[in-house]
Amino acid sequence: MINFTVGPVMSSNKICTIGAEQIPYFRTTEFSAVMLENEELMKKFAKAGDDARAVFITGSGTASMEATIINTLTLKDKVIVINGGSFGHRFVQLCQIHDIPYSEVILESGKKLTKKMLDEYDGKEYTAFIVNVHETSTGVRYDMNMISEFCRKNNLFLIVDAISSFLADDFNMKALGADIMIAGSQKALACPPGISIIVLSKEAVDRVESNDPKCMYFDLKDALKNGRRGQTPFTPAVGILLQINARLKEIDAAGGITSEIAQIAALAKDFREKIKGLPFEIISESLSNAVTPLHPTTASANDIFLTLKNEYGIWVCPNGGELKDKVFRVGHIGALTKDDNTTLVNALKDMQERGLI
Ligand SMILES: *Cc1c(COP(=O)(O)O)cnc(C)c1O
Repeated sequence: MINFTVGPVMSSNKICTIGAEQIPYFRTTEFSAVMLENEELMKKFAKAGDDARAVFITGSGTASMEATIINTLTLKDKVIVINGGSFGHRFVQLCQIHDIPYSEVILESGKKLTKKMLDEYDGKEYTAFIVNVHETSTGVRYDMNMISEFCRKNNLFLIVDAISSFLADDFNMKALGADIMIAGSQKALACPPGISIIVLSKEAVDRVESNDPKCMYFDLKDALKNGRRGQTPFTPAVGILLQINARLKEIDAAGGITSEIAQIAALAKDFREKIKGLPFEIISESLSNAVTPLHPTTASANDIFLTLKNEYGIWVCPNGGELKDKVFRVGHIGALTKDDNTTLVNALKDMQERGLI
């Protein structure tokens, strides 16, 4: 199978080989060294600054989304949540479950956030802002400079879910004044699912320290404290953390985040060129390099997903709910090549010849 979904994605042979090894015991100086290096490289790639911290949560991206809400917000906050699809909606649900006062900015599918939409919330009693920099469900990437400016002006604590955008699009936590950046192991980090990462600004660390969350596993005070010596409070997904270490070092040695982003951008550009002439519309107003959301004009998106999977050995990413038959997505993250793009485009052309699209 070739996997063009947006996670889990293809891992390199090197990462797969590490996954086949025995899992070492982890309360050791050797594993601590790996974790300290992971924290340093995550801070470096997020451009978070020296006073930032990074913690590694065993759980998929949503675990870190929830841990962030529980640990950095309280009933005294009032939050603006950008809800442009299923991942924005998830933050709304988290605020509801944890009784965090919020207002949501609901966007039409595929539409970008504009400054005008934010005007209504300008100069009001808000304290925090939550956004998925790339709303993966619709493939819309928001304008972080505009959001950053709005948050600075209103002195808002800025929480950014960069799970599908980290390593795929430019992101500078310090320059944007972001207080939280969340990433996940199974997106552009191209490791198995199971670890998510929270990078915290100094202010975010202060918020965590002064908060008293009613939970144990997701208590970030404990994670921050243990992290200082390269450890986690509980048994982490040790194997995935070793894979993440190899991957982060590999990116660092190959020229760092800039060349990683350039590589993913080149893959996205190549695909978008190659599908010209096929009966698909790119539906997002503002694309990430991570994914291309496509609306087939002559066939059901879900039928295309099924045919590619069952007859061609290729996974693209289906959509759910209202978009099920309207949109499928092609990811450009993970261990993919331009030749893989050609294989996918040839399969689509073959389907066209067969009258399926
Ligand atoms: C993948 C993703 C998540 C996390 O989903 P999990 O299934 O919990 O890993 C969160 N936000 C965005 C924007 C994503 O793309």
